[in-house]
Amino acid sequence: MSTLPIRVYGDPVLSQVTKVVDDIDGRIAALADSMIETMYEAPGVGLAANQIGVQKRLFVYDKGDGPVVVINPVIVETDGEWTYEEGCLSVPGLSWEITRANAVHLTGFDLDGRVIDVETDEFEGRIFQHEMDHLDGVLLVERLDDDQRREARKLLRQRRWSLGRDPDGLGQLLGE
Ligand SMILES: [Zn+2]
Repeated sequence: MSTLPIRVYGDPVLSQVTKVVDDIDGRIAALADSMIETMYEAPGVGLAANQIGVQKRLFVYDKGDGPVVVINPVIVETDGEWTYEEGCLSVPGLSWEITRANAVHLTGFDLDGRVIDVETDEFEGRIFQHEMDHLDGVLLVERLDDDQRREARKLLRQRRWSLGRDPDGLGQLLGE
């Protein structure tokens, strides 16, 4: 197992839709191991394959009781709303109050090809929606409302001022 560098905003791999995993083989298992190790080292509670540059449809997460690998995940149904502070390893150092669905029904496959079928809500449901966004090429900053976007732009200007440059293309993401 080894950790891999986490891609950050501005990297085109984060805005591409990932491809369905055809064969759950040893390479996928090794990839999942590396993703889990990378997630813990960061540290984070979830990581999608394209965050380490691999365009495949799987993510790993740990809601507090051990690592779980979900391959070819699908959100079957959502319900309700929940607003909660949310960050992303690919948007380091920033977080926002984001409104998402509360209850989530997710299906997928584990490393043995067995069906995963989870109905959950709150924290775990949020992880699912966040990681599904990644696999669809959507980053957290695209979920901001107008006020949050304005604030993020202000922060960006301050960073530009102190660094003398746009850190990693955040401006482009914010539509500047
Ligand atoms: Zn993320």
